[in-house]
Formats: sequence, C-alpha cells, structure tokens
Amino acid sequence: MAGTDAQKDRWLPPVREGRSLAAFALSEPDAGSDVAALATTAAPDGNDHVRIDGEKTWISNGGIAGHYVVFARTGEGPGARGLSAFVVDAGTPGLEIAERIEVIAPHPLARLRFDGCRVPVANRLGKPGDGFKVAMATLDVFRATVGAAALGLARRGLDEALDRASGRRLFGAPLADLQMSQAAIADMATEVDAAALLVYRAAWAKDSGAARVTREASMAKLFATEAAQRVVDRAVQLHGGLGVTIRRQGRGTVPRGSRAADLRGRQRGPENRHRAPDAGRKVRGRAGKGRQCRGGL
Ligand SMILES: Cc1cc2nc3c(=O)[nH]c(=O)nc-3n(C[C@H](O)[C@H](O)[C@H](O)COP(=O)(O)OP(=O)(O)OC[C@H]3O[C@@H](n4cnc5c(N)ncnc54)[C@H](O)[C@@H]3O)c2cc1C
Repeated sequence: MAGTDAQKDRWLPPVREGRSLAAFALSEPDAGSDVAALATTAAPDGNDHVRIDGEKTWISNGGIAGHYVVFARTGEGPGARGLSAFVVDAGTPGLEIAERIEVIAPHPLARLRFDGCRVPVANRLGKPGDGFKVAMATLDVFRATVGAAALGLARRGLDEALDRASGRRLFGAPLADLQMSQAAIADMATEVDAAALLVYRAAWAKDSGAARVTREASMAKLFATEAAQRVVDRAVQLHGGLGVTIRRQGRGTVPRGSRAADLRGRQRGPENRHRAPDAGRKVRGRAGKGRQCRGGL
C-alpha cells in the first residue's frame, strides 16, 4: 500500500505464498482508539538507522509473524502528524515478545517490547511523518476483512440453527414448525444478508479504485460484527441446553462461535469507535466543525 517496489519484493512474496505471517503493530497500552497518543519512538541512530523504543499490545500474530509493521513517533509534527511506519523483522535484536495474551476465543495475540531495536531507515514505509496515513489506509482494508470473518461466523450460526431446528422435535413436531422459531430464523437470515451486502460494498468500492473507503469499511465492520453476535446468540438459544455445552455433540460449535463473534467485534476497534467516523461526518456536514476523534482501529 505504501511500500516501494523493492520493499514489496522483499516482504510480500513469503506472505503471499503462505510461508510467513505479517503483523500490524499500532496499539499500545495507553493508545488504542486514540492512535495519536502513541508513545513508541523511532529516533535517528547514525545516518541510516533508527532506534525503536516502546511497547505495543494486542498485536495479532504477535510471536508467530515473520515481520511487524510498527508505528512509532518520529516527531515531524504534533500528534498524528509525527508518526512513521517501519517494517521490523522478527528476530531483530531489541524486539521481544513480552507476553502472549490469551483471550476468550482462539486468536494469536501478543504484547511486544522494543528496547533499543535498531532498524534500517530503508525499512520505513512511506515518507517521514506519513505513518498515520499509512495506518488509516491499511485499516480501510482490514476493517472490511474483519466484517467478512464475522459474516462467516454468522453464516455458520445460521446453518447450525437451521440444522438443529429441522432435526429437533418438540411437542410432536420439528422446532422449525413453531412460529417463534421461524421468526428468529427469518431475523437471522436478514441480518446475514444485510451484513454480506455491506461487506461486499466495502470490498467493491476498494476494488473499484476508491482512494479511501473509511465509511464503507467502518459500516461493514460495525454491522457485520454486531450482527454475528446477535445471530450466533439466537443460534445458541435455538439449541436449548446443547447451546452452552463445551464438548462437541453433532456439529456442536455454536458456543465457540459465540465467543469468536464477540472477539471479532473488538478486533480493529470496539463498536463505538466505528460509529464515530460516520456520525462525526454527518454531524460536521450539518453543523460545521465539531470535536474530531482521529484514528483508532
Ligand atoms: C482480537 C483483537 C485483535 C487485535 N489486533 C490488533 C492488531 O493486530 N494490531 C493492533 O495494533 N491492535 C490490535 N488490536 C487492538 C484493538 O484495535 C484495540 O483494542 C482498539 O483499538 C481499542 O483500543 P483499547 O482496547 O485501548 O480500548 P480504548 O481505546 O480504551 O476504548 C475503550 C472504549 O472507548 C470507546 N471509544 C473509543 N473511541 C470512542 C469515541 N470516539 N466515542 C465514543 N466511544 C469511543 C470504545 O468503543 C471502547 O468501548 C486487537 C484487539 C483485539 C481484541
């Protein structure tokens, strides 16, 4: 997205061929939604290196990635205007996996510590001070993919609910014959299709060459992750007692889906974060300038 051809040739092929994983290291203990507050620094160290110091947290693929795109303060301007992005290869001295973070559903997450981590200036993505732009352009793509993953969970929840409602007999007839079950299934199917359309729109807008798709991607992520939580919760309800068992019975993955749907909602920023860009834009459009929340995953 922001790399030179040489940078792309060096870091992308192993990821594309599935031999290596990439990671995106933006969040910090005191800078999550408020990206402009990030405190990790990249200071000049000789003519052709920077020295990175600080801490990153909640980093997906942390500890298993082949390289990390790390956002650090380089001081070209205040707040968001003084950040740059650097590729740091795993194994670079001074980069340590400080903690592997366990969450409610399987997901590789880690806290990273940078202590005098020397990185060539040639690893910088984009111009000095462009880090915030690089981060936000990347998130335009990431958010739609989180929405797509949530859509997959929702579809699985709907499939399992349909299986169960067709096979389970209550009061002498299939559960699916009860009108309340049919209403629940109709709501689930509607949410799944609405989520799919928002995800497809964000992907289509990006593929059609739109410079920024922040609004479309935020809406897709927000709606699809919340819809997945509602759909999977309804699937849990339709399974009765089976919905909360841990061991596999039949397809039996609904409780795991419930935790995974919750996790997706928090990935790349909790829900309010995604209401902010759209609401902010609408309010500013009507009433001139307001307080602007910049960035956030
Ligand atoms: C599974 C998972 C994977 C992740 N992967 C990565 C990754 O790969 N790389 C990375 O850098 N980070 C990653 N993150 C971090 C994630 O992006 C942050 O958790 C997120 O940005 C929120 O930051 P925070 O946790 O510090 O919450 P905070 O910023 O402290 O937010 C707290 C609350 O404030 C709300 N809030 C925020 N902004 C507003 C607003 N404008 N108006 C109203 N309310 C608001 C939020 O919705 C939230 O409820 C991941 C997180 C999770 C859970």
